Order: sequence, then C-alpha cells, then structure tokens
Amino acid sequence: MDRRSFLKAGALSAGLAGFYGKSVAEDISQSGGNFLEPARPIDFNDKYDIVVCGGGPAGIGAALGAARAGMKTLILEAGGCLGGTWTRGQLSWIFDFKKTGICPEIISRLDARNARHGGNDKDFVYEPEAMKIILEDLISEAGVDVRYFTTCCAAYKKGEKMKTLVTESKSGRHAWGAKIFIDCTGDGDVCARAGAEFEIGHNSDRIVQPCSFNAIVAVEDVEKLGGRITAYKKDSLAGHVESTKLNLQDLRAAGIEPSYNMPTLFHLGGNILLMMFNHEYGVHCDNAEEITRATIRARREVFKMADALAKTNSPWRNVRVVATSEHIGIREGRRVKGLYEVSTSDLLSGARHPDAVTRATFGVDLHAHTEEINRSETITHLEGFKPYDIPLRALICRDVDCLMMAGRCISGDRIAHGSYRVTGNAVDMGYSAGRAAAKFVSESKTPHSLKS
Ligand SMILES: Cc1cc2nc3c(=O)[nH]c(=O)nc-3n(C[C@H](O)[C@H](O)[C@H](O)COP(=O)(O)OP(=O)(O)OC[C@H]3O[C@@H](n4cnc5c(N)ncnc54)[C@H](O)[C@@H]3O)c2cc1C
Repeated sequence: MDRRSFLKAGALSAGLAGFYGKSVAEDISQSGGNFLEPARPIDFNDKYDIVVCGGGPAGIGAALGAARAGMKTLILEAGGCLGGTWTRGQLSWIFDFKKTGICPEIISRLDARNARHGGNDKDFVYEPEAMKIILEDLISEAGVDVRYFTTCCAAYKKGEKMKTLVTESKSGRHAWGAKIFIDCTGDGDVCARAGAEFEIGHNSDRIVQPCSFNAIVAVEDVEKLGGRITAYKKDSLAGHVESTKLNLQDLRAAGIEPSYNMPTLFHLGGNILLMMFNHEYGVHCDNAEEITRATIRARREVFKMADALAKTNSPWRNVRVVATSEHIGIREGRRVKGLYEVSTSDLLSGARHPDAVTRATFGVDLHAHTEEINRSETITHLEGFKPYDIPLRALICRDVDCLMMAGRCISGDRIAHGSYRVTGNAVDMGYSAGRAAAKFVSESKTPHSLKS
C-alpha cells in the first residue's frame, strides 16, 4: 500500500469508528451469553402522519388508505419489493378478492398487463413480477414514500402510546415518530417489540401451520400437463384436489415422496408454472435459525423434485427451475391481542359488526402441522362456516395505543386465522385500517378512543 492510500484508509476507518459508535471501539459488557449494546443517539424523523410497517398485501392497502385520505405516509419494508407473500413468496394464487376498495384496481391493472390467468374475480392466478411493478405504481401515484431493505426492529412507548419505531438498514439505525403506526409485518413484529400480548398457536402452544417454499418452473409444453394444473383454462378451483393427486403420482413415479401431500401447480402464462410442492413443519416466525434451515432444506427439495421429474419420460421432461422465492412463505405467525378477537363462533354464526372493515368469505384452511398428519389429513376445514365480518376493533392493538394491525397478525383465534389470513382479506383490511387511522388523526383521536 502506498503512503497516499494508507492515509486514505486511516481516515476511512476513523470515520467508520465514529459512525458505528463505541460498539466498534470497545466491548461494554459480556456475561451469561448477553451483550449489552451501548446506547447512542440516532437520527429521528417524525415528518410522517402514518408509518406502515411491512409492504405486503395488508401494508399496501394500509398505505393507500391513509395516503388517499390525505395523510403523509411511509412504508418501511424489509425486502426489495412490495407485495410480501404475493411477490417475495411468489404466491401467485389469490383468494377472496371480490371486494370494493383497491381490489378491483389491482385486478384491472393485472388485466391491462395480461398478467391474470385462470379463476374469476374472487380467486385467480397472477404473475408475481407484474404484481411488483403494479404495486409500486399504485403507491407512487398515491404519494406514499417507501424505504426498502429496512427492518423494523424496536418500538418504544410513552405511557400507553407507541411513540417511536426504530429501524435498521444499510444506512444504519433510524428512529421514526408518527401519529399512528400500522403493523403489517404479517408476523406482528412491531406489536411484539412494543410489548403487546400475542399468541403463537392455540393458547400459545406454538403449534403452527407449515411454511411453503414456492418456485417458478418452465416446461417444454404446458398443454401436455393438462389436468395437473389448478385453475387450468379458467376452471377456477374445480378439479384442484384431483390435479394435486396427479402431481403426487408423478413425483412418486420419479422416486420422490414430497413434504406436501397436495403438490399444487398454477399456470402463469406461456410455458411458465408456479410449483407449490413443499411444506416445512414447525417453523416459527420469531426464530431466524429455524427459518434459515427451512429455507435451505426447502430449496434443496424443490431442486430434487424438479431434477427427478425432468429425467422422466412424462410431460415433466426437461422441466427447469427458473426462480425460487426470495422469502419462504409463512402461513402462521403472531396473532396480536386487539380490542376484539375474531373467533371460531363468529365463523359459525356469520357474525355482523357495525364497524366491519371487510367480509371474509373464504373458509378455514388449516394445513397439517406435521408431515405425518399431512399424509392422511393434509388440510382441515371448518364444517358450518358462514361468511363473517372482521370489525375495526380487531385491528386495534389492545395493549398499546396509536398502534394498529392489518393482515394475518390481527386479533383472532387460531381457527379464525385459518380463514381471514388469505390475501383478499389482508389487502382489504389494510385499506380500512389506513382510512380509519387517517380519520383518527384528522379528528385528533387515537385508536383507543374505541375502547369501551
Ligand atoms: C405458502 C402460502 C400459501 C398461501 N396460499 C394462499 C393463497 O393461495 N391465496 C391467498 O390469498 N392467500 C394465501 N396465503 C395467505 C397469504 O399469503 C398471507 O396470509 C398474506 O400474504 C398476509 O398478508 P400480510 O400483508 O399480512 O403479510 P405478508 O404477505 O407476510 O407481508 C408482510 C410484509 O412485511 C415485511 N416484513 C416482515 N417483517 C418486517 C419487519 N420487521 N420490518 C419491515 N418489514 C417486515 C415482509 O417482507 C413482507 O413484505 C398463503 C400463504 C402462504 C405462506
């Protein structure tokens, strides 16, 4: 190294030490496996009325609801695109989408790009890449600011109210103030960090539905796959169970026993298909090690299945994996306690509420929580289900004011969650949460004003 570059390197490391604070220079305390992180001042930004945490289906809805009602709105998103499980998880199949609000807008934009296939206005297949650009267009047209690659990692209260959110990103740590925060992280990360009570599983037994790792594949001739494809040729869900049986047979003939007993295939247009063939059991949304191991195991299984099928003399011959998900799909995370808990009896009675934010019509789908049960009873449904209302109170955090939820982390029991978690409900409840938050702000009220 010459003298000039040495001087430059010295100046850079001195600058970095200042940037990272004492944590680089000095180890404050280490005992019993804990590290005491040194306190330090960080940037604070409170120019937004509403901060939406997570940009999945619920987060998109919430941000659009708030911004269109005149609120200065920000989305903080851990990934590099909007859409959550829709895009990062390559979901591709939407349930319960026949709603008012922004659902029809998304449908017409997908149609304008010819990116919607099969099904009808309620349930259909979409192209995940097209969904990414459509959501970015919608958000920027509404004047919502977005920060990608930014994880919500701490939340602080003043009295009963959530006051400050802390994020971590490539720019370091930042603090955000807002009048109302909406937790749309799917897993209820922000509510948990703010100290709100939540459940994982039934009565916190941590028994959860499996995760799934989706992959996009290309085949030589889609037509030859025929009945193996769910929603083939605008056929909606009719024939779905039969199609999964054919896929199971093909996998077994290729020497594979898949982790998911109902391997499902969707047609994304051309010779491109979405393979939902994998299940990962006992993975918890609050355990990064479990999520990492499941992701590695799942990707391996996806390639093993595709490689085995590719060698067969069948319509699968030469199938290739084109893309795997950026994030394994988590069906079940935290359910945060709200001012109201959506319950199984609501689903059996078809509950109606004056403060309804959406009507859920999709029944209960509880995927078996072990591979063994999955072999005999892959998905359990609720007999006697009736469409029911989700009230605004289920979207208001019971323990922390100025904090709301939308999407799969709202307040409900485990069975009810198996129904309302689907994306048509998530986006619609998000939209209502955003509009309700805007109303609270403009009337100088807080969500806890609804507490009885
Ligand atoms: C495998 C699988 C299959 C499914 N099948 C269907 C189906 O066929 N049809 C259907 O409609 N629904 C289906 N669902 C359900 C549906 O996908 C989810 O319940 C729905 O996506 C919930 O939306 P959400 O916005 O609450 O959460 P998510 O889609 O999970 O979005 C959460 C967003 O928050 C971000 N995030 C998370 N934590 C943080 C953090 N700490 N800081 C910042 N950002 C964060 C994530 O990156 C993500 O973008 C399925 C789910 C899975 C997993």
